[in-house]
Amino acid sequence: RRLSLEEIVSYCRRRGFIYQASEIYGGINGFWDFGPMGAELKRNIKQTWWEDMVTRHNPLVAPAGTPSPFEMTGIDSSIIQHPQTWRVSGHSDLFSDMMVDCHETKKRYRFDHLAGRWIKDREGNPLFIAAAPDAPDADAFLDQRARKLLGISKSREVVWDSPLTDLAELDDFANVLAPHASEKGTLTEPREFNLMFKTYIGAMQTAADAAFLRPETAQGIFLNFRNVLDSGRFALPLGIAQIGKSFRNEITPRHFIFRSREFEQMEMEFFCPPETSHQWYKYWQQRRLDWYLDLGLRRENIRVREHEASELSHYALGTTDIEYAYPFMADGEFGELEGIANRGAFDLNSHSMGRLAKADPPELALDENGAPLHRGSGKNMVYNDVARGEKYVPYVIEPAAGADRALLAFLCDALEIEKLGEGGGEDSERAVLHIHPRLAPVKAAIFPLVKKEGMPEAARDLFGAMKRKWNVTYDEKGSIGRRYRRADEVGVPVCITIDDETISQGTVTVRDRDTLEQQRIKLDDCPAYLDKLIEG
Ligand code: ATP
Repeated sequence: RRLSLEEIVSYCRRRGFIYQASEIYGGINGFWDFGPMGAELKRNIKQTWWEDMVTRHNPLVAPAGTPSPFEMTGIDSSIIQHPQTWRVSGHSDLFSDMMVDCHETKKRYRFDHLAGRWIKDREGNPLFIAAAPDAPDADAFLDQRARKLLGISKSREVVWDSPLTDLAELDDFANVLAPHASEKGTLTEPREFNLMFKTYIGAMQTAADAAFLRPETAQGIFLNFRNVLDSGRFALPLGIAQIGKSFRNEITPRHFIFRSREFEQMEMEFFCPPETSHQWYKYWQQRRLDWYLDLGLRRENIRVREHEASELSHYALGTTDIEYAYPFMADGEFGELEGIANRGAFDLNSHSMGRLAKADPPELALDENGAPLHRGSGKNMVYNDVARGEKYVPYVIEPAAGADRALLAFLCDALEIEKLGEGGGEDSERAVLHIHPRLAPVKAAIFPLVKKEGMPEAARDLFGAMKRKWNVTYDEKGSIGRRYRRADEVGVPVCITIDDETISQGTVTVRDRDTLEQQRIKLDDCPAYLDKLIEG
C-alpha cells in the first residue's frame, strides 16, 4: 500500500528524515530541516547526481544518437550575485506571481492556489468565486456563496463552469469574492508579487545596497561561462553543473517540501553549437528520465510532458517537464520534478548585450540613476569553434532539477506498508522503504545475534571496518525480528548478522531488505558484497 502525504510527513518526522524548521518556536512556514536520515538521503541524491553528471562522465566517447563526445564539469557559485544579474535574467521584473490578500484571515495567497470556480451571473457573465486554500470545507462555502449571490434555492443545483485554468480569462478582478461567508468581499485584487528574497550588502541599507538571494543556481553558471572556458582548456560541447540552495519567497508554500521557500537545485547548463541544440535537447530529456528510472522510480508514476508553444517562456525553443504522481495530486495528475529546456542563446546574449526591456523603446527602462535597467556586461560571449571552423554564441540546454522534490518523489515511491502473509501478529505487516542502495541513508545494519559468546565483539569489529567507507549502523537491542523491522523502515538494503557460525567458521548471514532472502557469505566478503549491491 502506498502512503498518503500525511502518513509520509509523520514518518519523516518520526524516523528523523524531515522536521519543520524552528519547530520549538512554532515553526516557520515554507522552511524545513533535514534530520539524520534526511540529511544522508539528500546528500546521496546530490552525490549520485554529481557523479552521474560530472565525475563519472567519459568525455572521450559520444553516447549513442549524439553528434559528438562532450565534456562535463562543475562549479559552486555565490548565492548573492551582482544585482544586475537579475535585471538581465528577467527575474527582477518577470519573476512574480499574482497574489491576493485576505483581510479576514490576514493571510496572503497565491492567486492560482485559491480554490475557485466559475459560474455565470444572472446576465450570463462569467463570475469567479474564490475560497482560500486553507478555508475549512471550501466546497460547501463556494456552494453557499453562489446560492446567496444568484438567489438559487436549496432545491436547485448550482451549475458550475470549468475550473480556473487561465488567469488571463479573469479580466474583471472585482468578481473575486470573499473566502469566508461575510457579506462584503475580503480579498484584495490580485497583484504582482516578486518572488526574490531581498537583502542588503553592508551596513548602510540604502536602495543602492539592495541585493537578492538567488532564485535559481543557473545564473551563476552563465556568469562564469567565460571563466570556466578560459581556465579549464575546455572545448564545446560542454556541460557546467551546479548544486546549491535557491530561495523563492513563495506566496503559498505547500505540500510539505514540494514547494518551499528555501530549497536545493541541481542544475546543468549544456553549451553547444546552435544547429545541434535540438539533438542535445532530446538527448538530455531521455538521459534525465533514465536517471530517475535507474534509481528506482516506477515508470507508471512518471510522466514526460512537452510544453505547448503557448506555455513556453519567450526565449525558450522547447521545454519538457519530467513530472511525478505525488500522493497529494488527484488521480491522474502529476507535479513537476524537473524541467529540461532549450534556452537558445538567450542567457549568454543577455549577459553580453543586455536583455530587451519590457518598456518600448527599451531605452525607456532606466534605473534610479538614469542607467538602462537591463544593460548587459558588454563581455564577449562568442565562442571560437576551431574544430568546426566557425564562431557563434552557444545555445544552451538546461536540465533543472530540485533535490527536495526528487527526495520527496523517491520517498513517496519507495515507502510501503507490506503484508507478509496471513499469520497475523506483529510481524504480519512491515513498513519498508525500498530505496535504491545508492540513495539509502544507511547502507548496512550489523547485528550480533545474541549478546554473548564473542558475537558483539566480532560485530563491532566488522562495524568499525565497514564504517570507514559507508554509513552503517550497529544494533544489539531487542529481538532480531525487531531489529530487521527497524532497518527496513529506514531502507537499510542489507542486514548482516554475526552468529555462532561466524565465530566457528568465519561466515555471516546477510538478509536482503526487498526479497527477505537470507544467505551465508564469508565475513571477509562483506565489503565486496555491499559494494556490488550499491553499484550493481
Ligand atoms: P513550479 O512551476 O512548480 O513553481 P518552476 O517551473 O518555477 O516550478 P523551475 O524554475 O524550473 O521551477 O526550477 C527547477 C526545479 O527546481 C523544479 O523542477 C523543482 O524541482 C525545483 N523547485 C522550484 N521551485 C521550488 C520550490 N519552491 N520548492 C522546492 N523545489 C522547487
